Amino acid sequence: MSGAQLENAQVLGADGTFRTGSVILTDGAFGGEEDAAAVVERFDATGLWLTPGFVDVHTHLAWRAFDAAVRQRLTPGEQARDVRLNAGRTLAAGVTSIRDAGGLTAPLAQEVGGLRAALSVQLLGAEDARGPAHLRGRVQELADAGAAWIKVVATGGVGAGDAVLVPVFDELELKAIHVTAARLNLPVMVHAWGGPALTQALEFGAASIEHAVLITDDQCRLAADVGAFVVPTIWIYTDVLAMAAAGTLPPSLAPAARRAVEAHPLAVRRCLEAGVKLAMGTDAGLDTQHGRNLSELACLIEAGVPADAALLAGTSGGARLLGRRDLGVIRPGAPADLVCFNADPRRPEVLRDPSHVVAVYVRGELLHATS
Ligand SMILES: [Zn+2]
Repeated sequence: MSGAQLENAQVLGADGTFRTGSVILTDGAFGGEEDAAAVVERFDATGLWLTPGFVDVHTHLAWRAFDAAVRQRLTPGEQARDVRLNAGRTLAAGVTSIRDAGGLTAPLAQEVGGLRAALSVQLLGAEDARGPAHLRGRVQELADAGAAWIKVVATGGVGAGDAVLVPVFDELELKAIHVTAARLNLPVMVHAWGGPALTQALEFGAASIEHAVLITDDQCRLAADVGAFVVPTIWIYTDVLAMAAAGTLPPSLAPAARRAVEAHPLAVRRCLEAGVKLAMGTDAGLDTQHGRNLSELACLIEAGVPADAALLAGTSGGARLLGRRDLGVIRPGAPADLVCFNADPRRPEVLRDPSHVVAVYVRGELLHATS
């Protein structure tokens, strides 16, 4: 398409404030004033709120079940269908770029439609804690399989009960992962609730710490010093807790989920205070979770992140973590990934309700629209 203009909208600027203005879409990119003459279609966007496409830096697009055994029983055809469905829901929620935190292989990534996807292919977890040599081989294998990121599960998660701070790898193993990844030019994303593994990951150069539920003030200062991102995932634990209470997930998950729900907002405020960079991650891994991605921004706002900072974490913040400074911002020449809301997305209740996302463009192409 060449030259469409959305006029009289509220447009999110790079500083996080909305201003009344127009957005020009031209040949896949945002246009500047000089492109106004070539505009062939004009739309009155009064009442619409326009943001760059959102970036979910922690999702599991190929997953729809909590239980790995259930996922492993799926045929390739069923997996491909799940990825198509999950990608469609994610896009309709306003997310135009993702970093997959495990499960999305290169063949399955063919099914994501217009979504931009960076892969970690498979996560490295407890079953790979078999010494540094094994891990050097695994990192190389993942690189060969198309990973752009190495995902490490360095502590337990919601299934670990009280043992959530116990490191999964010893220090030499964790170092071997980071050194090998660095040699292959692959950034590392580290699942860590807290404890010594979180500190080691930061010292070894992790690009992002995922969850960080029990991060300390000292660890926040270290993260800020080394420039690592923290990716809180507040919403998923509230969802898991609700499902465990309702019996749709195992009740054994409830204690750790409850601990996360209680501690996570405090962890986010610690990060804010220390000046740690934040990005939006959902950890969505169930068919009922894909498509509710912006709920995480609502949770960040309710935890004390100013709404403008939350919207930036969800757009330019995530784009920077992915090394894509051209994304997550409405700027002439940047790829035209654009989301149109029919209400103010600084309000948590708007972010929680994907029906407020009335149109989503990727590369200037309208890929989702409500009637
Ligand atoms: Zn995850």
